[in-house]
Amino acid sequence: MKSQMITRRARQTKGPVTLISKQELLGDDYCGTDKWMTICEDHGHVEGHQTLENARFFASRPVSWCRWCAEEVSE
Ligand SMILES: [Zn+2]
Repeated sequence: MKSQMITRRARQTKGPVTLISKQELLGDDYCGTDKWMTICEDHGHVEGHQTLENARFFASRPVSWCRWCAEEVSE
């Protein structure tokens, strides 16, 4: 099975954000509540999300979860 790993440039910052299925990454043993995660590639910040819907939503808005992105935008 191919990994569900998508990297896209966020509209807000133009920086690359990667969306990953945590369950797929860690295997079937994974039973945490955060099934997905987004990674700000520019800053290495990782944020967990419970649903794919949320993960997609925040993937395009790194300013709301990566404080370094937030700082760049506020400058
Ligand atoms: Zn960032």
